[in-house]
Amino acid sequence: MDELVVWDIWLDKPAILLPLVFVVGLMIGSFLNLLAYRLPIMTRRDERADCLNFLGLPAESNPPFDLAFPGSHCPSCKTPIKPWHNVPVLGWLVLRGRCAACGVGISARYPLVELACGALSVLVGWRFGVGGQMAAALCLTWGLLGLSVLTWDSGEPSLDVTLPLLWLGLLWHCGGVFASAEAGILGALLGFLTAWLFYRGLGLANAYADSWACAMLGAWLGWRLLPWVALFALPVYVGLEWGVSRRFAWPARRRFVLYAIWAGWALLLAPTGWLNHFVD
Ligand SMILES: [Zn+2]
Repeated sequence: MDELVVWDIWLDKPAILLPLVFVVGLMIGSFLNLLAYRLPIMTRRDERADCLNFLGLPAESNPPFDLAFPGSHCPSCKTPIKPWHNVPVLGWLVLRGRCAACGVGISARYPLVELACGALSVLVGWRFGVGGQMAAALCLTWGLLGLSVLTWDSGEPSLDVTLPLLWLGLLWHCGGVFASAEAGILGALLGFLTAWLFYRGLGLANAYADSWACAMLGAWLGWRLLPWVALFALPVYVGLEWGVSRRFAWPARRRFVLYAIWAGWALLLAPTGWLNHFVD
C-alpha cells in the first residue's frame, strides 16, 4: 500500500479529520479578521494615491502597510500583540476581550468569526471527507466568510476577494471537482447578467460589485443551480429585511448578495441528490 493511501485512510477518520479541520478553520478565521481590518485601509490608501496622482499632487510617504506588515498590534495603543494573545478564540478569552497594554475593548466579532470559520470548516469536512471536493469547498467557505465580513462592514462585496474566488472556482472545475469548466463559465455569465439586469432594472446601488459576486457564485455552482439560489435566498431576505427588521429593529442594511452567497454555499453542501442538478 503506498504511503499516500495510508495517509488518506488515517486522515479520513472523522475523529482525526474534524478536529484538524476545526483548528485549521480557527487559524484561517484569524487571518480573515486581519484581512477584514487591513484590506479596506489598503484600498483607501491606494485610492488616495491614485487621486493625488490624477491631480498632479506630490505622493505621500506613508509607512508600509499590507497584510504582512506591520505585525499584529492594538489599533488603539499600537502595542504589538504577543503571540500567545494572538491564538484564535483562546487569546481573546485570556485577555477577557481587552488589550493587555491599554485595556481598550477588543470586539467579540474576532472570536466569533474564528469560531464560525472553524464550525463551517467542520461541516465541510464532515460532508465531503478527505479529497478534492473538501479542499475546494474549504477554499470557497473561507473566501465567502471573508467576503461576508468585508461586505458587512462596507456594504459592498470587495472585488479584491470576489474576482480571485471566481477564477479559483473555474480552476477547480478544470479538474471536474464539482461541475464542468463549461458549466462554471456559463454560471459566471448567467450570474453576472441576471444580477446586472435586476439591479439596473430596479435602480439599486452596487450593481457592479454585486453582479461580480453573483458571477463568482455562478462560477462555483454552475448555471443549473443559480435559479435555486434565488429561490432559497429571496424569501429569507424579504422575511428578514422587511419583516423582522421592522418588528425587532434588526439593522436593515444587509445586502441581498450576502443571502445569495450563503444560500449557494448551503446548496453546495446539500445531499448528493441535489447536486445532480448541476454535476454533469
Ligand atoms: Zn492597546
